[in-house]
Formats: sequence, C-alpha cells, structure tokens
Amino acid sequence: MIIIIRESATSEERAQLMTLICRVTGRNESNWDKPITIAGHQVIALDGKLLDTQACTTLSQQSAVERVIRVNTPYKLVSRTFKAESSSVLVGDASRCNPVVIGSTSMPPVLIAGPCAVESRVQLLSTACAVQAAGAQILRGGAFKPRTSPYQFQGLGIEGLHLLAEARQVTGLPVITEVMQPDLVETVAQYADILQIGSRNMQNFPLLLAVGRNNLHRPVMLKRGFAATIDEWLLAAEYIVAAGNPNVILCERGIRSFDPQTRNLLDLACVPLLHQLTHLPVIVDPSHATGRRELVPTMSRAAIAAGADGLILEVHPDPNSALCDGRQSITPEELKTVVYETHLIAQVMKGQKDLSWVA
Ligand code: PEP
Ligand code: MN
Repeated sequence: MIIIIRESATSEERAQLMTLICRVTGRNESNWDKPITIAGHQVIALDGKLLDTQACTTLSQQSAVERVIRVNTPYKLVSRTFKAESSSVLVGDASRCNPVVIGSTSMPPVLIAGPCAVESRVQLLSTACAVQAAGAQILRGGAFKPRTSPYQFQGLGIEGLHLLAEARQVTGLPVITEVMQPDLVETVAQYADILQIGSRNMQNFPLLLAVGRNNLHRPVMLKRGFAATIDEWLLAAEYIVAAGNPNVILCERGIRSFDPQTRNLLDLACVPLLHQLTHLPVIVDPSHATGRRELVPTMSRAAIAAGADGLILEVHPDPNSALCDGRQSITPEELKTVVYETHLIAQVMKGQKDLSWVA
C-alpha cells in the first residue's frame, strides 16, 4: 500500500502516523520511515500484505493521511498502479552543460555514447567531441570498471572522473559513469550527471541505498542484472526510489543465455512490458547485450521500435585498440548512422508526419 500524506498535515499528525507505522509494521527508525516526495506527493510505501485488515483501516483513518492506494505488486512506488503517467528524468541541470530529458514523449530518444572505459585524456576528449558531432546527447565513460578478471584494466579511478568533467566542459554533454562502492557515491556524484549501477551490482543493496540518498540528487541508471527477473529489477529500482530518489532510469543490457554466439541475450520484450508495469523510463544497451559491433546498429533500431526511451552505446575511435569491450564498440562514424536511423524510427513510432527531428 502507498500512503499519501496530506500536504497540510501538521508535524504532530505526521509524527503520530510515523509512530503508528512503526508499531504496525514492527519497524523502528528503519530506512523507509521517512516520507519521500514523488509525483508532487509526500508518500510512504508499505507491504500491505504484512498488515492485518484492522491495521490497514487504522492507518488509512489517520488525520495525516490524504488517501491510501493499494498496489498489489511487490514493487510499489515504481509501479504504474501508483503513477499512471510516464516519468521523465532531467539530467545535467546542475552542471554547466546542456540538460537532457530522458523519457520525454515529445523529444527524440536520448542517445548516450562513449567509450566503455576512460583510457586517457586524448582518447576521452576525442571520443567526446566525435560522439557529440554524431548527435549523442550524453557522454558515457567508465572510470571504475567492474572486470571479470583482476588482471584486466580496472579503469583510471578518480583521474577518470576528472577527465569526464573536462570532457563535459569541452562539449557541454552531461556525463554518466559507474559507481561500484557505497563509500564512493558522493565523490562520483560530484563529477557525474547520472550515476550508473552496473549489472553486477543490481542487487548490491547498500549501494542502491547510497545512490538513493545521494546528497547531490543525481539521477541513477540501473542496469539489469544479467540473471535478474523483471520483478527483481523493479524491486532494485524500488530500493532507490524508496530511499528518496525518484529519478531512476532502467537499462536493459541483455541477460545470460546458453548460447555463447552473442555475449548476452537482448530481452527486447522487456521494453514494452516494463512500460506496462512501471512509469520509469527504459533505455537499451545493445553493446553489452550483443557483444558484437556489427549487431549494434540493427539492435539499436529494434530497441527504438520496441519503445525504448533511449540507447547507451559503446563508441571508440579505434575499437580494435580499446582497453575494454572493443569487440562491441562502434566508431563515431557508425554512431552517426545509428542516430539518424533511430530518430527516423522514433518518428514513425510516434506516428508524426513532421520529420523535423531528422537531420
Ligand atoms: C558498462 O556499461 O561498461 C558495463 C560494465 O555494463 P554492465 O554493467 O551492463 O556489464
Ligand atoms: Mn563495457
């Protein structure tokens, strides 16, 4: 259940409600006892199944309560049942860069592009300028890299963050980068316009809480765990929102399958399904989903046709010399074609006759 708090409720009425919530749920000073603001309302979400009927009635009758919404899915705040209109996420408004809205129905899909890893100043700045010229609106680049082998390139760390900030200053593109540890969230948030939670960390609950509470209120892109069900993924998003950060973008990046021909299996059906289940924007990463650069343009088009709000693509000026994920990286020249084609498809999807988006 979701309790919507009356705007004019006094602090005594609110305190009374909190005390009651703690009593009926058995929670005390937990992470979730503070109301959060979402869709213009102050709300508290609870698992109504854990409460008896009497407790539900008593809660809904509290003077601080405006109304109670029953949500039957395990995730509450991210569900369409709670919020019927699609959410959009504003990115880059706090930095000196060109802000971007992810999930806007009146704009073309958002293209995020850049190298898998920040490798050097020259590599990052040249890629940043090239992806901007190709039409990307947000720059990606990993400073902290989660690598399968401890002997692989692990990223430049803090130096990588400085380079991302410089690339933003040069191009005006907001930047997204991965954060892997709760104790680095505030540092990464000082440089990044979007905090990326990688596939391997989708259920790292202390990390989800830390990005949910980040003091700079940076939006979060939550990648799907490579063996996560859609419900587990939405519950991971719920952690972030329930911790106080409603600005979450979901990213489908492929799930593990039995077939090694592709790196992962791109679950495109999840895009329209997620649009039914949740109000959060959904983007697709065809680079990690396929692991093969020659498949990236086709799957980019397919993702937009499936209704994705954007794409995140790995781009490298010389993919064969990339320190990380070169096999799945496209060139800036190829990105230009992907931008053109995906904008065309998005236009068709929206049934608009005016082709003014198309360059
Ligand atoms: C990445 O975006 O470079 C990355 C590591 O992705 P994922 O977490 O999806 O594997
Ligand atoms: Mn990568």
